[in-house]
Amino acid sequence: MNPANPPAEAAVNASAEPRPSNFIRDIILDDLKTNKYAGRVQTRFPPEPNGYLHIGHAKAICLDFGLADEFGGKTNLRFDDTNPSKEETEYVDSIMEDVKWLGFHWDGLFYASDYFDQLHEWAVQLIKAGKAYVDDLSADEIRKYRGTLTEPGKNSPYRDRPVDENLDLFARMKAGEFPDGSRVLRAKIDMASPNLNMRDPVMYRILHASHHRTGDKWCIYPMYDYAHGQSDSLEKITHSMCTLEFEDHRPLYSWFIQQLGIFPSQQIEFDRLNLTYTLLSKRKLLQLVQNKQVSGWDDPRMPTICGIRRRGYTPEAIRNFCGAIGVSKTNGSIELAMLEHFVREDLNRHALRVMAVLRPLKVVIDNYPENQVEEMDAVNNPEEPAAGSRKVPFSRVLYIEQDDFREEPPPKYFRLSPGREVRLRYAYFITCTSVVKNEKGEVVEVHCTYDPATRGGNTPPDGRKVKSTIHWVSAAHAIDVEVRLYDNLFTKEDPGQTEEGKDFTSNLNPNSLEVVSHAKLEPSLAAAPAGSRYQFERLGYFCVDPGSAPGKPVFNRTVALKDAWARVEKKQSGKP
Ligand code: ATP
Ligand code: MG
Repeated sequence: MNPANPPAEAAVNASAEPRPSNFIRDIILDDLKTNKYAGRVQTRFPPEPNGYLHIGHAKAICLDFGLADEFGGKTNLRFDDTNPSKEETEYVDSIMEDVKWLGFHWDGLFYASDYFDQLHEWAVQLIKAGKAYVDDLSADEIRKYRGTLTEPGKNSPYRDRPVDENLDLFARMKAGEFPDGSRVLRAKIDMASPNLNMRDPVMYRILHASHHRTGDKWCIYPMYDYAHGQSDSLEKITHSMCTLEFEDHRPLYSWFIQQLGIFPSQQIEFDRLNLTYTLLSKRKLLQLVQNKQVSGWDDPRMPTICGIRRRGYTPEAIRNFCGAIGVSKTNGSIELAMLEHFVREDLNRHALRVMAVLRPLKVVIDNYPENQVEEMDAVNNPEEPAAGSRKVPFSRVLYIEQDDFREEPPPKYFRLSPGREVRLRYAYFITCTSVVKNEKGEVVEVHCTYDPATRGGNTPPDGRKVKSTIHWVSAAHAIDVEVRLYDNLFTKEDPGQTEEGKDFTSNLNPNSLEVVSHAKLEPSLAAAPAGSRYQFERLGYFCVDPGSAPGKPVFNRTVALKDAWARVEKKQSGKP
C-alpha cells in the first residue's frame, strides 16, 4: 500500500489472522451449534445520531461487524433516532462516513423511525392485552412512585384504567390533544420488581417536536427501551451487542419481545471503552465544540473518528487496537499509550520517511563548493523495500534541529558540538569548527567542514566512527511549512474526576496544541496530498491536514516516536 494514497475503505472482511476467542464469540458458537437461529448471525450497529462517533464506538463497530463477518453473517447500520430534539442529519452523514472509513460495509441501512408505525401498532396491541396503560402522573410523581433499590414501588392510581379508556387516551396523545409531559404510556409489569427497569417502564412520551425524518407526523415518541428490542426483532437481529450499562435493561428487552411473540433477538453486553486522558461521551464532546474549546468535532485532539482521522490515525491501527483490547464483563480503563502504540506500529510499516526540521539552526559547510548541489539517495521506507528511494538535495547551507547542537554538550550528549564529528543522514560526516552568536549570546549559525570520503553517510576508508546521525534539509531547497504538535487534550488520567464545583473542562490541557509556524521540510513533499502520512525522521509521524492551502501544507503530528534521549535527559535532571 502506498501511504500517500491510503485506501479510503479497505475491506477487512475475512482476515486470515487467528483471533483469540471471547465470551460473545462463544455465545455465537453455541447458538450455531444448537441451531438457535437456523445458523444465521445478524448484528447491527445502532448509533444515536446526536453527535459524531468516537473511538469507543469504533470498539462497538469492530465487534458488530467483525463478529458477523467472521461467521458469514450480516450487519445493519441502524440510526436509533427516537429522540427528535437532539438529532440532526449532519450526524447521520458523518456516522456513515466514519463507519465506511473504518473499513466496514453495512447490509441494511435503517432508522428506528422507520418503525414508528409498527411500534405504535404493537403498543396498541399491548394495551388491548392489558399489558400497558396511560398514566397521568407527572414525571416527578412517577419517580417517587418508583421506589428505590431497597424499597418496592407503588402502583400508580391510573394503573388499572380500563382498556377502552387507555386506548382512547393513547389515541388522543397521538392526535396531539395533550401537552408535553402530561401523560405517558407505561408497560404494566411489576412495581415491586427488584429490577427498577421492570417497574412499569415508560414506553411513550409526548413531545411536540419535529423529527429529522418524520417531520411533524408524530408528537408521541417511543422510549429507547421500547424501541430498541423491537427494532432488533424487526430486522431479525440474532445477537444485539451493547455496553454494560444496559445489562439491567435486558429483562425488559426480552419482556417486550416475549409479550409480542416476535423474533427472539438477544441482547449481549460488553464493557465500554474508557481511555486515559480522554473523555468518550458525545454529550461532553459536543460541549467542547459548542464552547469552542476545540476547533470542531474533527479537531485532531478530539477522540472522535473524524478527529483521529485528521490527526493521521489509520483505520488499520484502530481495528488492530480494538482487536487487542478485546471484550469483557467489567468496565476498566485502557492506556491511551496503548492506542498510540498501535498507531505507531501501523505507520512504522507504511509511512514514507522524509526529513524535516522543526526548529531550524543554520549550518554552513565551509569547505563545500558554493554553488554545488548533490542529489542524495534516501530510502523511503526501510520496512518496505518496494517503497524504493528518492533524491534529497544537499548543498553548502543546511538546517538542522536546534536540539541537535549544544555548544557545551552535557554528558551522554553525542550530537553536534564544537570539535565533534557527526553523520548527516544519507549525506556526509561533518565536524563543527565554529559558531556565530547574536547579541544575546545565542548560537545562530554553526560552521562545519565535511569529509568528501563519507558520501552517502558511509564510513570513510580509515574506519572512523561517529556516535550520532542527525537529519537535515538544504536551506535553499527546503519548503516552509506549518506543523501542529498535539498533546493530550486533558491533564488528568481520568478527566471526569474534578474538584468540587468544577466540571471536566477544568481538566483541559492548556498546552495541548503547539503551532510551529516555520518548519523546514525537504522539497519532495511540496505537493503532498491532504491526509497523506509520513515519518519525519527522528521526530514522529505526521500527516497533511485537509485544511492546508494548495502548495502550503500544514502537518499534524499524529504521534511522536519514542524519544530515548528525553528519557535519559529526564533521568539526569532528576525530573519525575
Ligand atoms: P455517548 O455516551 O458517547 O453518547 P452512547 O452509548 O449514548 O455513547 P450510542 O450512539 O447510543 O452512544 O452508541 C451506539 C453503540 O455504540 C451502542 O451499542 C453503544 O453501546 C456503543 N458505544 C458507545 N460508546 C461506547 C464505548 N465507549 N465503548 C464501547 N461501545 C460504545
Ligand atoms: Mg446515547
